[in-house]
Amino acid sequence: MANVLAIDLGGTKVMAAVVTNEGAVVASARQQHGAYGNWPDAVGAVKKAADKAVAKANVPWEEIQSVGIGVPGPVDHLNGLAFQLPNLGLVDVQIASDVGEVLGATVIVENDVDAGLVGEVWRGAARGRRHAVGLFPGTGLGGAIYVNGELVRGKTGITGEIGHMVMNPKGPRCGCGRRGCLEAYASRTAMENWVRKRYLKGYGTSLEGIDDPDSRIRSRAFLRAAQEGDTLTLRAIDRVSRYLGYAAANLIHLLSPEIIIFGGGVIEAVGPLMMDRLREVTAERCLPGCFDGIELAEAQCGDQATVLGVAAVTFRAMGYDIS
Ligand SMILES: [Zn+2]
Repeated sequence: MANVLAIDLGGTKVMAAVVTNEGAVVASARQQHGAYGNWPDAVGAVKKAADKAVAKANVPWEEIQSVGIGVPGPVDHLNGLAFQLPNLGLVDVQIASDVGEVLGATVIVENDVDAGLVGEVWRGAARGRRHAVGLFPGTGLGGAIYVNGELVRGKTGITGEIGHMVMNPKGPRCGCGRRGCLEAYASRTAMENWVRKRYLKGYGTSLEGIDDPDSRIRSRAFLRAAQEGDTLTLRAIDRVSRYLGYAAANLIHLLSPEIIIFGGGVIEAVGPLMMDRLREVTAERCLPGCFDGIELAEAQCGDQATVLGVAAVTFRAMGYDIS
């Protein structure tokens, strides 16, 4: 049995886990941080989470054979750096060398969403598949593409940016500043913007937080309001389901994956209310025969998807057959 340390660096927290080559999470630990714009603080939080996870796993550091880290932004895999980490307010970060220095190990760097899809392929809803796509609507919308048993890297390494696929060039403003991207229709932020606009026009809703323009409407609040039968919330959920269905049809026409995985905060909260509608819209939009046998499924690994995927990528880099 071999162990690696897998790290998921987020905008406000770090998760570290000791993972075996069979995909078992031996132990994991979390560390909050307020390291926005401060890379040394982020590295310090990574070190703390790593030490906690290794201590909890009761494995000596010498038996940790390698380290991998997933980060929220586009990465240069060969050189172990991130071009930008918007959630951390950082650009051109030397991740592999800086994290490697404090942990005394070589470090593999991966994009967190790409890793999340690999986690689902290794131990989740896409287990054993060779062709899979991941769509993860949360604050934004992350995407990842896996073809022939490998992540698609392309020329620049920046791939799977499905959230910025243009659905309507005159559509609502996206987090990226452009208009009509998928993310501007299918994310928690998009749902919030859509209901707030209608609330201001006089539509009634029982959504928690709607009367406070400074508060965020959380995915769980959409679930509670939907369970109460709130019409505006149900319409917002239907709209996200439709747009994810349009995107799924586009991706099926483009890639013919075996499975499309839907995860992220929106799906964790209201996914069960969305999947039937999403499948119906996808089927309507696909050319005859295209959708046959293709599965649309909810993610299964939850917040462990990224550490599992990082571990899988790290084991592969060490020569293990992780399929
Ligand atoms: Zn965009």
